[in-house]
Amino acid sequence: MSAPFTPRGTPCGPLLQNLWDYVRNEHDGVLLSPYLPAICALLTHVAFCAPFLVLDLFGASEWLRAWRISAEEPPPPLRAWLGCLWKIAVQYLTVVLPVTALLQKPRGHVRLPESSPTIWQLFVDVFACLLLFDTLFFFWHLCLHRFPWLYRNIHQQHHQHQAPFALQAQDASTSELLSLLLLARFSAWFVNCHPLTEILFHILNTWLAVEDHSGYNLPWALHRLLPFLGGAPHHHTHHSRHNVNFAPYFTHWDHLFGTYSWE
Ligand SMILES: [Zn+2]
Ligand SMILES: [Zn+2]
Repeated sequence: MSAPFTPRGTPCGPLLQNLWDYVRNEHDGVLLSPYLPAICALLTHVAFCAPFLVLDLFGASEWLRAWRISAEEPPPPLRAWLGCLWKIAVQYLTVVLPVTALLQKPRGHVRLPESSPTIWQLFVDVFACLLLFDTLFFFWHLCLHRFPWLYRNIHQQHHQHQAPFALQAQDASTSELLSLLLLARFSAWFVNCHPLTEILFHILNTWLAVEDHSGYNLPWALHRLLPFLGGAPHHHTHHSRHNVNFAPYFTHWDHLFGTYSWE
């Protein structure tokens, strides 16, 4: 659990405090809205996918093909992107948005803290959230593959594609989308992080999921900078082989359970 919020402990303290003051004073209604988690999840997902759409539109060119994980597979056409976007938007509007809003309702009465987190708290708590989410996702994902009923009814939809593209990070059954949103919310709640930290965690979480499904092993991908991350090649192998690489981001659980594969 994180320590109480003590701002201005580092040179970035005043900066974070000013940012937090602005968000808290000007946009507290938005911050406490029960619709915020689902709307943010959808919008950040689409925004982070946009650069990969551009890459896919030019993906047939020689220099880009070198970075594609399945170089022999042609990049998906715009039609596939639009179809996937429509499917995800309908799921969000009809189920994910109302259900998360209902679960979020009690939060409308929460009093926002006056202080921002320190930069150190922000870093430690985001990392703790990512570690916890990765752990919960790993065991949940393992169950989805080990129990045929769960696989058929919840996870199979996400495995329609052996070589996914970025937008397909959220091309999953409604129950799977909901379960992942809840695991992320639970991780932030358990770590007891500041709302600003929670926002950063959700943004990073979305980026990592998009990068995992992008189909590109780019020179500046996060897993090249941070070797304990699996990245797109790691998750791509999961989509093609199904029985390895169950963790979404880090690789330690797959190493421990003997389900790690690097191909
Ligand atoms: Zn996937
Ligand atoms: Zn899977």
